[in-house]
Amino acid sequence: MRNCLTVDVEEWFHICGVDGPLGMEHWPELPSRVVDTTRDLLDLLDTCGVRATFFVLGWVAARYPGLVGEIARAGHEIGSHSHLHRRVYDLTPRSFEQDLGDSLAALAAAGAPHVRGYRAPEWSINSRSLWALDALAAAGFAFDSSMAPLRIVGDPAYPQHPHERTTSAGTLLEFPPLVLRRLGQNMPLIGWGLRMSAPARVIRAVEDRNRAGIPVAISVHPWEIDPDPPRVKLPAATSFAHYFRLDGFRARLERILRGVSCAPMGEVLGLPAVSA
Ligand SMILES: [Zn+2]
Repeated sequence: MRNCLTVDVEEWFHICGVDGPLGMEHWPELPSRVVDTTRDLLDLLDTCGVRATFFVLGWVAARYPGLVGEIARAGHEIGSHSHLHRRVYDLTPRSFEQDLGDSLAALAAAGAPHVRGYRAPEWSINSRSLWALDALAAAGFAFDSSMAPLRIVGDPAYPQHPHERTTSAGTLLEFPPLVLRRLGQNMPLIGWGLRMSAPARVIRAVEDRNRAGIPVAISVHPWEIDPDPPRVKLPAATSFAHYFRLDGFRARLERILRGVSCAPMGEVLGLPAVSA
């Protein structure tokens, strides 16, 4: 069974809810790492024979349009990770539509005009922002991967398998991220949860789901394999989410990728191929 590796293409400083030195007004002058780290990730995927779905931040696509082409030419699928990396539930439906349009325009200008998948910053489509699914369907998206079956960012009651969501503008497929059921709770296998897990354990979790006929989505960021990540002081919880167990993650990710069969999300969902 084929699963999905997804990559949220953003800079190390695209962190929701943090302002001050990492505020949006400072982004242009902060050290950029996204091109080098994304290329390194492309090399890793090539080595492992994995084709993935890259949800690219519009802000990154606008600054580095050539990077979008490099990703697409390597056989990967391009999706949107919003334009300015703001949590969806902090936006109004109107400002969300604006941000979505800006992201699609930046991706189209970078050579990716057929975007049909969306990943919200920080899994921020939840009960506070379900209207976003209507906007995505109305904008022509076929799938979303933003609703985490987890406390705090989402809801443990959300389905843990790809499923259809009915919206006012038609059907949208929702592909949730992989979580691990432990001690009666859903534990994240995204972000720090994935970085702290032994590869064998992640592969076992994927195999368990696959045996039940369910494909899974694993999610990573280019900054998580940065060999020399810029360090800044962040609030404790954010710092943990951002920096915990980065050491050695590239090697652990390689072991995971060698043990899991992957394809782009659109293919795993059975969508027709997109003509270039
Ligand atoms: Zn993000």
